[in-house]
Amino acid sequence: MSDPRAQLIATARAMQPAGLNKGTSGNVSVRSGDAFYITPTGLPYGALVVGDIPLMTLDGSHQGTRKPSSEWRFHRDLYAARPDVGAVLHAHSPFAVSLACLRREIPPFHYMIARFGGDTIRCADYAIFGSPELSTAAMQAMQGRKGCLLANHGLLVAGHDLAEAFALAVELEELCEQYWRACQLGDPVLLSATEMADVLKKFQSYGQQ
Ligand SMILES: [Zn+2]
Repeated sequence: MSDPRAQLIATARAMQPAGLNKGTSGNVSVRSGDAFYITPTGLPYGALVVGDIPLMTLDGSHQGTRKPSSEWRFHRDLYAARPDVGAVLHAHSPFAVSLACLRREIPPFHYMIARFGGDTIRCADYAIFGSPELSTAAMQAMQGRKGCLLANHGLLVAGHDLAEAFALAVELEELCEQYWRACQLGDPVLLSATEMADVLKKFQSYGQQ
């Protein structure tokens, strides 16, 4: 099996071509035993080598030559609270940021909203980046969910592994763009609670196959 740090770097580098990131904003992590690897602060992804990747334990301490991303807290809190989470990705992607600046949750305008575990994508309350308050708000918005928006900030997703986290981030940014486009034309017709419950049930039975 390949080094999880190499997989982490490959995922971080894939963010820009996928439209999830520009520059050094955003961060990715992957669980490793009782700890997790996370992208370091302030280094361009193109220049990263495995030796640059810090390992953090759930108490918030780290090993390695580089400092972890300043936004490590919501990564740590997701791993600590959610055994189902194996990878976390955070991005300042343009359509997610646009909607997050309206501090509006995304309603069930499309059935794929259910992929994130509910009938909306919540928007976490605003708190300054890197703060315990932001992590608390993010954990609330992520309750029972695989993704959320962070007010005036960006998106956050959590998957079983890096591949799922990356796919969820791409899907969430896509949904934000589609919702934004639909809103240009009028008020999107929303799916009912029953219709969304049927989709959630269908997704669960797919997952069991
Ligand atoms: Zn951020």
